Amino acid sequence: MLKKFLYTLWISILLLLVFFSLKNGSFSTFITSMENRTFDIRQSILANSGVREPNPDIVIIAIDDASYEYILDNYGEWPLPRDIYAKTVDYIEAQNPKNIAFDLMFVKSIKDNKNADTALINTFKKYNNVYTAMNLDDQPHDLRTPPVLPESLAVKVQGTSKKVDPDYLEYSNCRAILEGILNATNNIGMINVVRGDDGVLRKMPLFIKYHDKYYPQLALKVAFDYLGMKSPDEFILNDNGKVSVKDKHFYPDKDGGVILNWYGAAGTYENIPLYKLIKAANGDKTFNYDFSNKIVYFGATASSLFDIKTVPVDKVYPGVEVQATYVNNIIDGSLIKKCPTGINILLGLILAILTIGAVFMLPSMPVAFGVSVSVYAIYVVLTYYVMRFFNLWVEIVPPLAVAIFAFIAAVIIKYLIKSRDFDTQYKLATTDGLTELYNHRYFQEQMQLQTSHAKRYELPLSLIIIDIDFFKKFNDQFGHQSGDAVLRQVAFELKKNVRAADIICRYGGEEMSIILPNTRYEEALKIAQKLCDIVSSKKYKLSNGRESNVTISLGVSSYGTDGETPAQIIENADKRLYNAKNNGRNRVN
Ligand code: GH3
Ligand code: MG
Ligand code: MG
Repeated sequence: MLKKFLYTLWISILLLLVFFSLKNGSFSTFITSMENRTFDIRQSILANSGVREPNPDIVIIAIDDASYEYILDNYGEWPLPRDIYAKTVDYIEAQNPKNIAFDLMFVKSIKDNKNADTALINTFKKYNNVYTAMNLDDQPHDLRTPPVLPESLAVKVQGTSKKVDPDYLEYSNCRAILEGILNATNNIGMINVVRGDDGVLRKMPLFIKYHDKYYPQLALKVAFDYLGMKSPDEFILNDNGKVSVKDKHFYPDKDGGVILNWYGAAGTYENIPLYKLIKAANGDKTFNYDFSNKIVYFGATASSLFDIKTVPVDKVYPGVEVQATYVNNIIDGSLIKKCPTGINILLGLILAILTIGAVFMLPSMPVAFGVSVSVYAIYVVLTYYVMRFFNLWVEIVPPLAVAIFAFIAAVIIKYLIKSRDFDTQYKLATTDGLTELYNHRYFQEQMQLQTSHAKRYELPLSLIIIDIDFFKKFNDQFGHQSGDAVLRQVAFELKKNVRAADIICRYGGEEMSIILPNTRYEEALKIAQKLCDIVSSKKYKLSNGRESNVTISLGVSSYGTDGETPAQIIENADKRLYNAKNNGRNRVN
């Protein structure tokens, strides 16, 4: 049992190694995308179960479809003139918010409205808690010359790590934002995202390399501000894959992104339409909202505008809420961490062991299957709770795939062993140990079977009974050991010289019998004579290195003429054998 178990485990480990070494190729892409789906499902269940409350201090000023319409109707243009943004900021600032962040890029002057631009630039000068965004890209340099960013926006990246390559996310160009804003504030962060192969946004970068300097994510600056910490200015890489900023630790994936932990579908955060705020800033007293100590994020939510992402918990999710989620995760310390590969392999191994155990220990296959499936189900549920309570992404698909492979391997091996055991048992039950001919019991069975067969199909059938001549004397002269050796060699000679369809048995002692299906008496007689001649012509090796001859006597009888029952046929063959002995031995009768 233990041997079988270890054997199957060994095969499973081999499968496992092959499996985890297939880093590239379509199979691993398939497994990765399946695994991502299980992550999305776990996140969706968590997000919809309401176990994780979003931070109530985060509020979105939503540039929604209504606001877009309002702006077009009241200002006759889009985007909104920048002095209006300045006015709304003044309105919010009067209530002492924690900070205000624009998930918007104030790119170069629109319609040369310099006064509006100046109003906004002055806003950034006036308040040190107003943040805005920039985006890095790889647009061709003949489209736009890459702008030079102020040194003060860059962060240091120190240390080395085997797991984190700080240059993984590197861009060569940047959409320039207003020079006045660049010079007015350091509260500018990039808002780039990391998309999966399937286009789903699960990760956000910590920082991005641009022209040999590193620039941090806007959400980090906003979150650090909320926590009362200095704006992140130095990222320290650690060998274990950790990236630290002071006492905050992050675990970026290989593509440079940290994995977001979602709080709900689109609209999780309080959304205030921008037009209501504009009206309030213009003196409308009906709008009342307490912005004190809030993180106020401006951003597009309108489906008619850009910046809509697909995230694990929603197909249509506004970019500004991605920012809000990132800020929220940093504040809570709830960014998702991936379970190390070694642990995932170990879990796959444990599942495989349990599966193989179930297949070999439990006699019933459906029960073993049921137990294995239950183990898998418990595992899946556990991974959900690990994500819920520890923000840890334990893989489901690779370990389960290994366990299922192990199950299949175990079932195949179990049945192979079973059928081999059956073959061995059957052979043991029907064969004679000394001569390796069929045994007496098998002979009797076959006699029964072959006579009824001959009867039903009206076919001939013959029997030869063979006895070695003067074998008692032979034993006396050469010893029992030599007798055994000769018996074995005579059996071998006989077996070698009959047809495959003939059934040759050890009848008892030094007597052997051959059932010859579909063989008439005359034919059987010829075969018997041939065997008699062959046996007498050979020299047989004895145990002590000597050699000797032996002869045999044979009696032949046939179905029909000599009787129709096995007993009658055997009796007649015996009689003829007796006659052969009496007529001088070494002959057929
Ligand atoms: P014959 O048949 O020619 O009349 O003389 P025999 O001496 O062979 O007489 P019989 O067939 O009656 O004797 C059987 C002898 O065969 C008895 C026994 O000593 C020997 N014998 C039977 N089975 C075995 C066996 O498995 N090994 C050995 N070495 N001898 C056996
Ligand atoms: Mg005998
Ligand atoms: Mg004999």
